[in-house]
Amino acid sequence: MTDTSQPSFDGRAVINGERVAARDGQTFDCISPVDGRVLTQVARGGQADIDAAVAAGRAAFEDRRWSGMAPAQRKRVMIKFADQLLAHADELALTETLDMGKPVKYARAVDVNSAANCIRWYGEAVDKVYDEIAPTGANALALITREPVGVVGIIVPWNYPMIMAAWKIAPALAAGNSVVLKPSEKSPLTALRLAELALAAGIPPGVFNVVPGFGTEAGSPLALHMDVDCIAFTGSTRVGKQIHVMAGQSNLKRAWTELGGKSPNIVFADCPDLDRAVEAAVGSIFFNQGESCNAPSRLFVEASIKDAFLEKALKLVPQYQPGNPLDKGTVMGAIVDQMQLDNVMRYIGLGQSEGAQLIAGGALASPVAGGCYVQPTIFDGVTPQMTIAREEIFGPVLAVQSFTDAADVVRAANNSVYGLQAGVWTRDINKAHGVARALRAGTVHVNQYDEDDITVPFGGFKQSGVGRDKSLHAFDKYTETKTTWIRIDSPV
Ligand code: NAD
Repeated sequence: MTDTSQPSFDGRAVINGERVAARDGQTFDCISPVDGRVLTQVARGGQADIDAAVAAGRAAFEDRRWSGMAPAQRKRVMIKFADQLLAHADELALTETLDMGKPVKYARAVDVNSAANCIRWYGEAVDKVYDEIAPTGANALALITREPVGVVGIIVPWNYPMIMAAWKIAPALAAGNSVVLKPSEKSPLTALRLAELALAAGIPPGVFNVVPGFGTEAGSPLALHMDVDCIAFTGSTRVGKQIHVMAGQSNLKRAWTELGGKSPNIVFADCPDLDRAVEAAVGSIFFNQGESCNAPSRLFVEASIKDAFLEKALKLVPQYQPGNPLDKGTVMGAIVDQMQLDNVMRYIGLGQSEGAQLIAGGALASPVAGGCYVQPTIFDGVTPQMTIAREEIFGPVLAVQSFTDAADVVRAANNSVYGLQAGVWTRDINKAHGVARALRAGTVHVNQYDEDDITVPFGGFKQSGVGRDKSLHAFDKYTETKTTWIRIDSPV
């Protein structure tokens, strides 16, 4: 059944607790990839809007309206914020689907729930994180405390707009910071609603500001701002490198980056359950239309089981044919926009022209007129030199290679500028541990690929970024460590 109801959208920025147009009145069209319709006009933020949002964040930080709130109270407000997301779950899910094309059933079950859970988890942590006392002598006391950094700039991509925002705003707010969030120009709508829901929960005006706009127009002024103390970025490696340069050439703000991936998934002939390995390999690359930084886009299958593996994989492909994302039964939706669709098609063309064997998909699809859809695609016979084996496609395209030797496949898997995630399938515990140790990746999945939880760090080695989201590792990113020495004149 198709859900045709549509919430009304307000594309204005949220600065100091108020909805405001861009200072110069500029807007841009927010286009739905579901069917090409214009959903609304969105404020086209620029330097003046970033300046206003940073000033609001600074004022809120200086008067301690948030960081000075008793931890138990700040916790309660954060938990109310999480509850607000759940209270508006259907609306948020529909907005996310219309804005970036993912199936509404996943927007509701995964995106809204994960974002709310993340905010609740960091809210719960607020009054459970203790500071430290150093082991000093009797004449002194040294306190090691964690304090908020100040104003945190946050720039996020379009693939999981709410989750990517929550992974950063939740620990930053829990630590007592003010936040200025710039969502992607391709999917800005739910971020704006999050700021309104935060206000409704009791997060004071000015603490959480959202300025929509384009990367060079709104993102760069935020990364370069002299009054922003920390910049947290999720997006491409290309822009992530620029973020570190901007942080360094401005005020040496702390810079954290979560970047691209080209994750290897290695299936040995002794994998414990071939059906499960096939389902995970196929399901993980086609989930969210392949627009996941951690998608296992490079599949390495031991040569002796490759034919059996691919036979089973091809049987699963039809169930991932793209459908109308608003239909509750759809499992693969629309690619975020025409530009990204063109990009995916360019890579499919390169796969063919460089000699890979197209065994599934490869063409556009059109379940809804005017939308951006591509078939789930699998290439066999891929070699390490091919473009589709090296570059992040960020679409539903699986590149399959085979191997015969464990050391060789580890070398091949590590032969990437990225190091975000990896998978290994074997029932041999020694091989599992040995390969997991040898893989240069922030997360290694053994005999599964979909476990995820807010309690564990998420981030990459090498050019997949600097720092970690989720868990208390991320909380620390948004704090400064202070040592306070206290002299004790007359120890008893
Ligand atoms: P992108 O780098 O093009 O854009 C990301 C954000 O940066 C957007 O908000 C954009 O407006 C902004 N931006 C662009 N140019 C900028 C500039 N010069 N200065 C400041 N900001 C700028 O990436 P994208 O296409 O939105 O997202 C896809 C990428 O994100 C993929 O590479 C994917 O792997 C990565 N990603 C990584 C993770 C992770 O946790 N490692 C998670 C999700 C997505």
